[in-house]
Amino acid sequence: MSQVYVVDAGVLFTTWTMKVANATVVTTSNIMVEVRNRPSQLRTEILLVLDRMRVVNPEEAHIQQTSEAASLSGDRSVLSDTDIELIALALMLKDEGENVTLVSTDFAVLNTASHLDITFIDPSGKFKQEMTWTMRCPGCHYKSKTPTRDTECPVCGTIMWRTPLKRRKKS
Ligand SMILES: [Zn+2]
Repeated sequence: MSQVYVVDAGVLFTTWTMKVANATVVTTSNIMVEVRNRPSQLRTEILLVLDRMRVVNPEEAHIQQTSEAASLSGDRSVLSDTDIELIALALMLKDEGENVTLVSTDFAVLNTASHLDITFIDPSGKFKQEMTWTMRCPGCHYKSKTPTRDTECPVCGTIMWRTPLKRRKKS
């Protein structure tokens, strides 16, 4: 079974894809829109022409599952819908039995993938430990016990900050 790399826009802006010459690169159509507006689009077009790249969108069920995992890890408030789609795509391909690795330099994307047991690569090498975040109010010190997408303190309405609840070192 060949290796499939699900890549984000940040990775497509670099030459990373040139290092994995025998692998297939996969991304979502929304990320292709971001890439097409940048100078690095030529590299991406070449991958498409060489048949080394596929554009696939995740199904709603996987988007839902990813969104829930991101809420539980505390990453949902900093992830865009495009980020969620990308992780959901990796999850979908994994469920379909593909040998998939998610490639991203976005900490929240990697962290959510880690919580979903998706294999990932961080080309920047900065991702060291899996985090579980919670929200804390700098005003009244209220600490959210349940994961929420809401960033406003339910007690006083101040914008809450993300704060680490748990860390787990990645091997
Ligand atoms: Zn508060």
